Amino acid sequence: MVLSTLALSIATAVSAVDAPTFDPQRLSADVKTLSSDAFEGRGPATAGETKTVDYVIGQMKAAGLQPGGDLKNGKRTWTQAVPLLRAEIVGTPTLTLKLDGKNRALTQGNEIAVRAPLDGSKSVSIADAPLVFVGYGVTAPERQWDDFKGLDLHGKIAVVLINDPDFETGVGDFGGKAMTYYGRWTYKYEEAARRGAAGVLIVHETAPASYGWATVKNSNANTMFDIVRDHPASVHPQLEGWIQRDLAVELFKQAGLDFEVLKKQAQTREFKPVVLKGESFSANYKVDAKVITSHNIVGRLDGSKRPDETVIYSAHWDHLGIGEPDAKGDRIYNGAVDNATGTAALIELARAFAKAPRPQRSIVFLNVTAEEKGLLGSEYYASKPLYSLGKTVGVLNMDALDPHGPARNFTISGSAKLDLLDELTATAKKWDLTYAPDPKPEAGHFFRSDHFSFAKRGVPAVSFSSGDDWVDGGLAAGKAAEDEYNANHYHQPADEWQASWSFTGMARDLQILYTLGSDLANSNTWPNWSKDSEFRAARDASSAERK
Ligand SMILES: [Zn+2]
Repeated sequence: MVLSTLALSIATAVSAVDAPTFDPQRLSADVKTLSSDAFEGRGPATAGETKTVDYVIGQMKAAGLQPGGDLKNGKRTWTQAVPLLRAEIVGTPTLTLKLDGKNRALTQGNEIAVRAPLDGSKSVSIADAPLVFVGYGVTAPERQWDDFKGLDLHGKIAVVLINDPDFETGVGDFGGKAMTYYGRWTYKYEEAARRGAAGVLIVHETAPASYGWATVKNSNANTMFDIVRDHPASVHPQLEGWIQRDLAVELFKQAGLDFEVLKKQAQTREFKPVVLKGESFSANYKVDAKVITSHNIVGRLDGSKRPDETVIYSAHWDHLGIGEPDAKGDRIYNGAVDNATGTAALIELARAFAKAPRPQRSIVFLNVTAEEKGLLGSEYYASKPLYSLGKTVGVLNMDALDPHGPARNFTISGSAKLDLLDELTATAKKWDLTYAPDPKPEAGHFFRSDHFSFAKRGVPAVSFSSGDDWVDGGLAAGKAAEDEYNANHYHQPADEWQASWSFTGMARDLQILYTLGSDLANSNTWPNWSKDSEFRAARDASSAERK
């Protein structure tokens, strides 16, 4: 019964907005191919990359796109080369605290987790650097907030809290419980680098971080990647790491300070940095650093009236490659849901747009690499854009879409306030879908998907996510499937294509994403961020380009 009612409402909506139909069988076939063992888990700079890039280019060509990548002899190619820095600490790092003249050795992974440097260093040698507590380490002019108060961080190690100043109280200038970008660990490193710090040690606390120490340890004490940057030291201090809360409490105590008292002060504008007197930090280790090259795949349709204005659809093609075997001995991390689904969706959108009358603005289909290594393909594109970011209308990203049946709702990664989300919500309403906001905005999911590389440079961007209130089975069924995926498939060799997947939910959601992109590409409006968004200033800075 429920199904037939929905079929009717879809049919009405489709004719009302005139969206093309998308083919679940073709989505299934693309996902099946991209996640087959032959593609070896699609690791960047592996044989799996070559296969993936060839396949996606083949599909884009067949769809009728033009190449939109790097220029070679005055002609666009299908890819953008993405040089990646791969860095690993050689052996066990020597990490030492000096408290009142006495040395204390710290164990990597135990009370401290320091990652391989991404500033290009071949070795790290920090001797007796002073430690300064800088509260939440935030400089937010639009919120009249500055934790540094003119402090010179050169040669010093900043000790900083995770999340933003109003996380604990739930009320204040940083979105209450929801995390602004000022709360994300990447921001802490970037701000300290802008101030010339020798290093940053983030105090780990489970609630504000939203994950336990095991996650910190596992994601820092191994091989690290970044894009090759023109000025890496402007983004990365040489030393980037975390310490356990117990160690921080002890450091404060030894310096005659109270951690909880200072944390409370850090939640106010009046906070001033505090030197941890009589304490210093030393670090010594060699680094194995080399450059590997991966590729973003870029297809394009030139706009009929304003080709220099661009709407971007994006999805990452990479996954984890070949790694540790699971209980069955399977070593190939196929990444069917994550993110063969998004890549298949991108190709299917390309097919539809190439067949339709050409929109006024250009559309770029951007299939990025190295998302799993830290959003690096999207970061590279956004740092070296092939088409002006100031004239990029918006970015619609797709990551790990649900291959099952349709839902009555949708969501985005994390939470944010921007016109693009309002427009997506209004478009989805034509299909009777409601927007389900992120139930845990304090976890900062907005900063963990490829759209964010654009957002932080001011480009309106969201990452679309499938809903969990299934037409067939409701929230109970949707949530059960999500839990099952997270427990048994997510980032495991068992994220494999299944014959039982209908792909009808994706096919329906693609009508919504197509309609929104088409509307944007045929309008002359420029969606923006809300007035109080931390990304608004970056967008407004390029407003002259959009006159
Ligand atoms: Zn993904």
